[in-house]
Amino acid sequence: MDVEIGEKICRNFIGGRWTSPRSDHGRQAVDPATGELIAKVTESTQEEIREAVNAAEHAAPQWAATPVKDRASYLMKFNALIERHLDELAEILVLEHGKMLPEAKGDILRGKEVVEFACGMPDLMRGEALFDIASQVDVRMVREPLGVTAGATPYNFPAMIPLWMLPISIACGNTFILKPSDRTPMTSIRLVELLAETGLPPGVVNVVHGAGDAMEALMEDRRVRAISFVGSSAVAEQVYRRCAEEGKRVLALGGAKNHTVVMPDADLDKTADAVIQSAFGCTGQRCMATAVMILVGDAASQNRFLKAVVDRAAALRLGHGLHPDKYDMGPLTFEALRDRVLRHIHFGCQEGANLVLDGRKKFSRDYPNGFFIGASVFDHVGLEMSLAQEEIFGPVLSVVRVPTLDEAIAVENRNPYGNGASIFTAGGAAARTFARRASAGMIGVNVGVPVPRDPYAFGGWNRSAFGAGDITGTAAVRFWSRDKKITERWF
Ligand code: NAD
Repeated sequence: MDVEIGEKICRNFIGGRWTSPRSDHGRQAVDPATGELIAKVTESTQEEIREAVNAAEHAAPQWAATPVKDRASYLMKFNALIERHLDELAEILVLEHGKMLPEAKGDILRGKEVVEFACGMPDLMRGEALFDIASQVDVRMVREPLGVTAGATPYNFPAMIPLWMLPISIACGNTFILKPSDRTPMTSIRLVELLAETGLPPGVVNVVHGAGDAMEALMEDRRVRAISFVGSSAVAEQVYRRCAEEGKRVLALGGAKNHTVVMPDADLDKTADAVIQSAFGCTGQRCMATAVMILVGDAASQNRFLKAVVDRAAALRLGHGLHPDKYDMGPLTFEALRDRVLRHIHFGCQEGANLVLDGRKKFSRDYPNGFFIGASVFDHVGLEMSLAQEEIFGPVLSVVRVPTLDEAIAVENRNPYGNGASIFTAGGAAARTFARRASAGMIGVNVGVPVPRDPYAFGGWNRSAFGAGDITGTAAVRFWSRDKKITERWF
């Protein structure tokens, strides 16, 4: 049964065919800047998930036997198609997510870098060998694919995060089932349409829509050998445990609460610009966003850093992401998130933090039905407050003041997450101390969003990641393949 609500029905892609959804249970995707309906996303039935796994299982042996260079050549064509369709993909992404057009292009281009990385699989997947590991005995180690694999992605990077997973998995010789976020599935659909244009054999990549039920069906199917997941910590932990129960390989990246330390000797303008980009870029919906700015010593007592950040944040113009010439910040992606952010701000005021910039007072005149909220800044945030502890995932910056770098590091170390942490300083000793002692997987020195670029890998620590390893780079090659050791003696 086709469910024709809105302009587009999101179809599953199974065994090389786009299939109409069989359930009418699901979610409506809207343009968050206007509130207009743009797509209907249905929760796949158990039967549809089974069919996707069947298709991936059927395609797996031949795909694994396809020479690695040939596998990579599909990705080279895919890379060229992404480049050719960049503007179109970016517009779809803005419409479903709300971020600004240049941010949408960045989302796609960072994912495209992983496609380029995966094109090097003939080299990346190479094994090792040694003569005479024992007398007259040689050993070889080769990497083999796992078989059927799957990935589930969050709403906030609809291009980059599917592209963290899919290219590396299939280049390793696996077949892959993507379950995109049910809030922002359309960019993934378009990406997979482009991938199909390369002539990729049916069943190598499949797409199923849905949320928890679809994931449960994938997790309980023993034929799915590995699952990569990115989302909130609560769900990531649940996925990690569930996959472990089912004996699956799993890496589940979770939420974040990233800290940026500002030392008194930091460059005022460059630091303020970077903090604005990090805290309010993508409307604060980045897992690498700065959520807490720690002002150290004189950086706290003289209010110049706070003032520079607040002045810039107050000037951000709210509007549709397709018009970056007129506006600086898009809406939050869905209404319930906007309401959640409003509750966090209300609660922060009740807890006694000082709201020096109130984003609730700002709205978009041009887009009155969008889920907009202005940038907010809280000063004098106490460590016990929810503002300091919980992931808000919106344009809210909390400012903590401490006398020394040691105390700043202690504040950073106390938070349960560990995705990114940055320091702004002119001093190498402070930078080194911070880089050494901060408890996070990705550290920035005078960099606001310290996302490592390929071949260095993306991955956090603590409650920001469940499972071993990183999601990109050579760690991902190891995740999506398994080693076979061959010990040989010839008479
Ligand atoms: P989410 O946890 O709500 O959803 C993530 C994925 O899980 C989606 O595909 C969703 O459909 C699926 N899902 C929902 N309920 C499920 C369930 N019960 N069982 C299994 N799967 C389920 O996250 P979100 O709101 O889409 O994304 C925002 C979150 O993702 C934030 O917490 C953010 O920090 C985090 N994130 C982390 C990283 C990282 O690299 N660590 C990157 C981006 C986003």
